[in-house]
Amino acid sequence: MGGREVTSWDGMSITVAGLGVSGVSAARALAGLGARVTVVDGGDSEALRERAASLETAEGIAVRLGDADTLPEGTELVVTSPGWKPTAPLFAAAAEAGVDVVGDVEIAWRLRGPDAAPWLAVTGTNGKTTTTRMLASILRAAGLRTAAVGNIGTPIVDVVLGEEEHDVLAVELSSYQLHWTPSLRAHSAAVLNLAPDHLDWHGSMEAYAADKGRIYEGNRVACVYNAADRATEDLVREADVEEGCRAIGFTLGTPGPSQLGVVDGILVDRAFVENRHKNAQELAEVADVNPPAPHNIANALAAAALARAFGVPATAVRDGLRAFTPDAHRIAHVADVDGVAYVDDSKATNPHAAEASLAAYESIVWIAGGLAKGATFDELVTRSAKRLKGVVLIGADRGLIREALARHAPEVPVVDLDRTDTGAMSAAVGEARRLAGAGDTVLLAPACASMDMFVNYNQRGDAFAEAVRGLAAAGA
Ligand code: ADP
Repeated sequence: MGGREVTSWDGMSITVAGLGVSGVSAARALAGLGARVTVVDGGDSEALRERAASLETAEGIAVRLGDADTLPEGTELVVTSPGWKPTAPLFAAAAEAGVDVVGDVEIAWRLRGPDAAPWLAVTGTNGKTTTTRMLASILRAAGLRTAAVGNIGTPIVDVVLGEEEHDVLAVELSSYQLHWTPSLRAHSAAVLNLAPDHLDWHGSMEAYAADKGRIYEGNRVACVYNAADRATEDLVREADVEEGCRAIGFTLGTPGPSQLGVVDGILVDRAFVENRHKNAQELAEVADVNPPAPHNIANALAAAALARAFGVPATAVRDGLRAFTPDAHRIAHVADVDGVAYVDDSKATNPHAAEASLAAYESIVWIAGGLAKGATFDELVTRSAKRLKGVVLIGADRGLIREALARHAPEVPVVDLDRTDTGAMSAAVGEARRLAGAGDTVLLAPACASMDMFVNYNQRGDAFAEAVRGLAAAGA
């Protein structure tokens, strides 16, 4: 059982940090178990007050708005929402008082009953949601009762305590969540890739990697790593796992023993087969992966590895991949206009993600820019230069991309729109159309966050799609 901790929540004084979705769900669950819960939030808006009132009257939960810094008297445990920085004064106060700080995922983990569904866990800088959803689709195709949870879907505490029964859960975990989940012991876990992101939150690349690496701690069956990304393999080596747990690699090339990979357009398994030194099991065709872009095939292999670690048959991997449809704004093909394909990958919010999507096309007019979040673009531009037919830049930090282009791809034509208003997207699509010719792809893969111009990446992608549909209608 790996020494499951049993916590008695009855009468325990718990402070929940943050009155957001996960905070409310954790507060409710803990109050329902008899804990005395106080939620603190630094905000004091009308919406927060309404939410607070409903919790206070209906469920006996105390809410303190406008002060998120001081620790309520008598607190025995702090439960934080994932976005809170580890440097928050509340946590310093907790440390001083000798009080543990954990996240809602940790609470969900501790609340699991003795026969609870095992967790197959997924993290990485990019590809988490896609891989987790692919995994759930494969598990479902195998007839297993499952759900994709964690950083997506219903709050994980609600799923663990809910009525619905599960055989296994596909759990997406962000680095923030892993930071606050010390006792998680997954059945098997995957780290898809590791590139600088959220360093302002974690403090350093080492701290970020260490938090990601926690996902492997105590794994029982398989630690799945990316053979093309040494840092993920290093994390497996450093992890303390259960006796007999195996390191399983995935690769876009021919797999070695204990790896999954690709041979002649076929996804194959040389890990979960008898006599892996001689044998391989065919799982699916590359064409079964939607879309069959290289990074997405990697996601499919990682999902397949976790499913196979759980004992899922090869046919279910194929059926699950075929049944999978990607979420919106992730390499979504919007339309073809005059022989040019328009693709929305608004979710490419950092350079590593944008590099993956640029690698999926041969001749690209690239729409990029937004908030850089401290990222640099030299590597991205160097590696992608030969595919760029032209570039259209928008957004607050577009200058950083323009400079990287000037350094590493001076021959590529660049249109700098010098705009950060919402309407700039339609102008960007118009410019991209002028630069593109038949057979090219106009790709929105901004490599930046969207909040300088849009509410979020969804709205940015929608603006792109709307502009493209406008082109299509005008051309028709
Ligand atoms: P996450 O949940 O980690 O943000 P998503 O599955 O939502 O990841 O994908 C986000 C973006 O990251 C995609 O739109 C694509 O640009 C990029 N991406 C997806 N998978 C990978 C991968 N394996 N490697 C690099 N980039 C990826």
